[in-house]
Amino acid sequence: MSLAHGRPYLAIPGPSVIPDRVLRAMHQGSPNIYEGPLIDLAASLWPDLRQVAGTRHHLAAYIGNGHGGWEAANANLFSKGEKALVIAVGQFGLSWANSARAMGIEVEVLDFGKSTPADMDQVEAALRADRDHRIKAVLACHVDTASSIRTDIPALRAAMDAAGHPALLAVDCIASLGCDEYRMDDWGVDVTVAACQKGLMTPPGLAFVWFSDKARARCGRGDLASPYWAWGPRVDATEFWHIWDGTAPTAHLYGLRAALDMIAEEGLTNVWHRHRVLAGAVWAAFDSWSAGNPAIGMNVAKPADRASSVTAARFGAPHATRLRQWCETKAGVTLGIGLGMAAETDPAYHGFLRVGHMGHVNAHMTLGALAVMEAGLVALDIPHGPGALAAAARVVAAGAL
Ligand SMILES: *Cc1c(COP(=O)(O)O)cnc(C)c1O
Repeated sequence: MSLAHGRPYLAIPGPSVIPDRVLRAMHQGSPNIYEGPLIDLAASLWPDLRQVAGTRHHLAAYIGNGHGGWEAANANLFSKGEKALVIAVGQFGLSWANSARAMGIEVEVLDFGKSTPADMDQVEAALRADRDHRIKAVLACHVDTASSIRTDIPALRAAMDAAGHPALLAVDCIASLGCDEYRMDDWGVDVTVAACQKGLMTPPGLAFVWFSDKARARCGRGDLASPYWAWGPRVDATEFWHIWDGTAPTAHLYGLRAALDMIAEEGLTNVWHRHRVLAGAVWAAFDSWSAGNPAIGMNVAKPADRASSVTAARFGAPHATRLRQWCETKAGVTLGIGLGMAAETDPAYHGFLRVGHMGHVNAHMTLGALAVMEAGLVALDIPHGPGALAAAARVVAAGAL
């Protein structure tokens, strides 16, 4: 028997659940793209997009996904042969490094593995060692969605300042924007990359790059910025189509307007608080489960190093895959696969999964997903400690005060 027939819940770390309000907003025919309401609606998005990123500076938007956002940043920050220093704490940092390398950028990776936060002393040392300042930018993920490690961006900035290095700081906020506290200008970030399908609750299809005056001064000097990726023509647009280098993503603009309205109505600090509390509920459940079975555990030891939007965990192979399948087929909850922890052909792969708690997610969704996981652990005879749901409920009760 399956109990999955009802509204399904996609609890993966992106794409995230799309609010009905966003879906309804998108359900419209093609508008006039030369004049009229669409132009005004698009213009209204820019101040709100700056606000969610915590910046007063420039914004280029693209029809693209997160990988497109990376390329946009790479293309404008570097010339061929210039150097990037990539801080990697999981698969996404390594993938950004690969994207830069494939474009002809020289890449130095500081790889801290899959479950350890970046050591800022090593970052400072790497920058000090670069005496002739060949490194033009430091690239880091605020949240690496594969490991669920959250990097302390102010500490990274401080390490760069301590080294006295002029490199720009570029941060991937694809899995943290609209989930975790982020303040681009206050934290001294030069470039922020994001996409619309995670904390911004809109179907995949838009990438964003916010950039400082210092970063802007670099673009246009390099040999990597093609007509599509170059920032300049987009931010200096004199006609609407210049902003998109072609036809605007009309339906996405309607959807994003609704999503940004929802964030504004809730308030960005409340949005961050909601994510932190729901993450805490997930962590409390894991603490209880793992107390009865050391094979169960979260990937990141310290709460301060954990993302608010996703939790990577292990259950011991093959139980993570069994549990995911049970939750989906028996109860309508889809959990995320483990990413970058083991090759798909390695039996160990089946020991990892991720719980997404990003975007349009509230207490009943997270508590429901945890209760379903608990039911799955029981049904599949996977040993686990007691009290997980009560512990998660206590976190929610305290966080809702
Ligand atoms: C999802 C994600 C990406 C990749 O985004 P795509 O839209 O799949 O290209 C990159 N970085 C991080 C941190 C992500 O979470």
